[in-house]
Amino acid sequence: KTFAEAGFSVELMKAIAKQAYEKPTSIQCQSLPIVLSGRDIIGIAKTGSGKTAAFVLPMIVHIMDQPELAKEEGPIGVVCAPTRELAHQIYLEAKKFAKVHGIRVSAVYGGMSKLEQFKELKSGCEIVIATPGRLIDMLKMKALTMLRATYLVLDEADRMFDLGFEPQIKSIVGQIRPDSQKLLFSATMPRKIEKLAREILNDPVRVTV
Ligand code: AMP
Repeated sequence: KTFAEAGFSVELMKAIAKQAYEKPTSIQCQSLPIVLSGRDIIGIAKTGSGKTAAFVLPMIVHIMDQPELAKEEGPIGVVCAPTRELAHQIYLEAKKFAKVHGIRVSAVYGGMSKLEQFKELKSGCEIVIATPGRLIDMLKMKALTMLRATYLVLDEADRMFDLGFEPQIKSIVGQIRPDSQKLLFSATMPRKIEKLAREILNDPVRVTV
């Protein structure tokens, strides 16, 4: 398998080459065609598997496919992660690929000034990477709207549940358009994550690495 089979833009292929990603990892091989076809996915994968690029690259394609991109406000891609460290890592990975298409990425998480993050979101972005609690805070402060969000990633869902973010996740899912494409990644699949997946995903494909 190669990245070229995914049909990425020339710019994205250059950015992938610049990262020296020679070929897709197992999770990327399995999930790229499914996610690029618009389907929901359950990815059972750990950090280190390349799962971030597996959801970031199709997110860039999804955003580029939106008609009348410039007209509306609010992120199109929303990524929830359990910790600020993971949110920051995803932010760095997303930036590398987003910048080639002029797509703006913001990261919001606890431990940073709410006012600064409010201002950052107000200035506009197409992708937001967030810890669930802080994203809820920002939504309450009307720093952003979810009106045009159509691509949701729940990363390390099991850890988010362990950290008690279940109500926040459900609230975020409830605020996003029901026809959104949704991706759920988790290192483990305890019953409560299975249940969440059944509740929020639409006919998902399951991939395991
Ligand atoms: P992740 O599991 O997303 O945290 O990724 C783990 C590491 O693998 C990160 O440093 C990525 O930059 C790197 N990586 C992701 N995809 C590839 C690839 N196809 N080839 C080589 N390295 C990769």
